[in-house]
Amino acid sequence: MQIPSPLQEIKTNWSQTAKVKLFVKRDDLIHPLVSGNKFRKLKYNLVEAKKKGSETILSFGGAYSNHIHALSAACNGNGFKSIGIIRGDEIRPLNHTLQFAEDNGMELHWISRGDYRKKDEPEFIEKLKEQFGNFYLVPEGGTNELAIQGASEIIPEIEIEFDYICTGVGTGGTIAGLIKSCPSKSKVLGFSALKGDFLKDEVQGLLEEGHNKGQKDNEKSASGWEINVDFHFGGYAKVKPELWDFIDDFKEEVDIQLEPIYNGKMMFGIKALCERGFFKPRETIVALHTGGLQGLAGFDK
Ligand SMILES: *Cc1c(COP(=O)(O)O)cnc(C)c1O
Repeated sequence: MQIPSPLQEIKTNWSQTAKVKLFVKRDDLIHPLVSGNKFRKLKYNLVEAKKKGSETILSFGGAYSNHIHALSAACNGNGFKSIGIIRGDEIRPLNHTLQFAEDNGMELHWISRGDYRKKDEPEFIEKLKEQFGNFYLVPEGGTNELAIQGASEIIPEIEIEFDYICTGVGTGGTIAGLIKSCPSKSKVLGFSALKGDFLKDEVQGLLEEGHNKGQKDNEKSASGWEINVDFHFGGYAKVKPELWDFIDDFKEEVDIQLEPIYNGKMMFGIKALCERGFFKPRETIVALHTGGLQGLAGFDK
C-alpha cells in the first residue's frame, strides 16, 4: 500500500506548448487490488462497519463497476463478507470485473433495472435485509459522507502549491472530498464521465448534506469548483477511436496508463483546455489519477 500516493511531474507536448506545469497525483498506485479513489472512499466505511460490528457489507453496481471490484477485494482483505447487488441480467461466464468479485468471495445477486432504481429507498433496503440478514450498506459508487471524508485526505498529501486540481467525476464523492479540502486560492475542476448537466447539483447536495449535519464549515474550501461536461464522449463508458488514440499517445509520451471511462476523458479534457488557452502560462495543474485500470480488461478496442 502506498499512502501518500506519489506526485509526479510530467511534460507532454501540449503541456509545454501551453507553458503549464502538469503533475499527476498517482492514486492509481495506492493499492494493487483496491483501485485509486475507491480505496479512499472505502477506508472510513470499513472502519465504521467494524465499529458497528457488521460482518457483511452490501453494495450496488453495474456489471463493470470499479466500485464492486474494489469492494470485493477490500472486504476479502479485511475479514468482511460481501454482497454485490448487480444491475441487469445474470450473464455467465462472468466478465472480468464480476469474476474478480466472485473470486474474492463476493456473493452476487442480479436485479432488474426497475428494481435497481429503488436502491436508495428504505423499504427496498428493508427487503434486502429480510433476504440477506443484517449488513452494512455502502451506496452505489461508494459515495457517502465517510467516502467524502476519505477523499478529503488526497489534497493534504500534495506538498506543492497548485492552481487547479482535476478529477474525473462519476457519482461526485471524490470531487466533493477535493472541494472540502482544497486551499482557497486553488480551484477544483471535474470532468464528467456522464452525459448531462445534473452532476453539479448532485455535488452541491453532497456538500450541503455534511454542512447541515453541523460538520465544521470548511475554512479551507476551494475558491471555486466546476464540472466540465464537454468530454464525456457520448456518455458513461462510451469511447471513441480519438480517445483510444489519445490514451495510447499519452502512454507513449509519459509512460502512464489511463483508462477510457474516467482518467482518459479527464486528461483529454485537460489537453483540450490547454489548447484553448483556458490555463494560463506558468499555472500549475494537478491531475488526480483515480485508478480504474482493471476496467481496461473489459474493453475490446
Ligand atoms: C468510481 C471512479 C471515479 C468516479 O468517482 P466518483 O467519486 O464516483 O465521482 C473516477 N475514476 C475511477 C477510476 C473510478 O473508478
